[in-house]
Amino acid sequence: MVDELPERHAELASMLEQEGFSVRLVAAGPEAQRRIDEAQLVLLVLGPAGGPSRALLQHLVARDDEGKGPPIIALVPAEERAAVLAVLRLGAEVVCTPVDPDELLARMARCIQERERLNALVTRVAALERLSITDGLTQVHNHRYFQDRLREEFRRAQRYDDPLSLILIDLDHFKAFNDDHGHQVGDIVLCDVAASLQRSVRETDLLARYGGEEFAILLPRTPLAGALTVAERVWRELGALHTGPQRTLRVTASLGVSAFPHHAVNNAEQLVRSADQALYRAKDEGRNRICVHISPMPLTGLASR
Ligand code: GH3
Ligand code: MG
Ligand code: MG
Repeated sequence: MVDELPERHAELASMLEQEGFSVRLVAAGPEAQRRIDEAQLVLLVLGPAGGPSRALLQHLVARDDEGKGPPIIALVPAEERAAVLAVLRLGAEVVCTPVDPDELLARMARCIQERERLNALVTRVAALERLSITDGLTQVHNHRYFQDRLREEFRRAQRYDDPLSLILIDLDHFKAFNDDHGHQVGDIVLCDVAASLQRSVRETDLLARYGGEEFAILLPRTPLAGALTVAERVWRELGALHTGPQRTLRVTASLGVSAFPHHAVNNAEQLVRSADQALYRAKDEGRNRICVHISPMPLTGLASR
């Protein structure tokens, strides 16, 4: 309970204590702001306009709008109709003073319940959000999230003249692997591969399952040389991976690497296409290797003799 003169409300506080609440009386001021996050609910006794309780109320309601801090009930003298309306317009709950204890308890219970419902909803939305960007099998990011981030990172790289690299990884002969060991074992391997890839990259890098047995690693602020170091680490770790139900199986992968800036990479699609071309070359040249996208410089401005 926050008041400019907290001792005025000792009686109300003891009633609330009898109802099972643990009440802290705090003067409206800097201490109140610090203590508020510990509270389940704030009862703010509204003082005169321009006083610290008004400023505190504004601050608390603003935080409440951001979903932070406990719910607020302002206690306002019944005859101060303008103040009651002002608080309601601000978005806080109001109980008029002198307080009717039953009404106060009912409104407190409602505020607490609403907050619990809201918190449960926020948790659920966050979980759904996570689900919508996560690949259900491997638990790394999914294709949709990769596409969104790719576009965002490409725009950022262009704007700030930052390098941006992409590694595409495709497991070798995975169809045959499935045929030999069964689809379920293949799924276990995909999970192990994803975990291995995750260990090979930094937190600022984005790992996603690009397709069936294909993964992508987007490396913001990383030039080609840095991407090659990551690709080599990824390739080495995958080569050392013992996977499958008994950890007796091995896989290899082919990797294609491309980077921006590059004269042939002017948008996000071209970054993907160039990494894909490098990946195809890695497959063509025998698999289990890393290829870099290097397209020839365009022949422009040839002087005629
Ligand atoms: P390559 O070396 O040319 O990449 O050969 P590949 O057999 O890996 O390539 P292809 O694209 O022909 O086949 C990919 C295989 O990946 C086909 C499919 O059986 C397997 N695959 C795709 N998604 C999944 C999945 O979710 N689980 C399992 N177990 N296998 C998958
Ligand atoms: Mg493939
Ligand atoms: Mg493959």
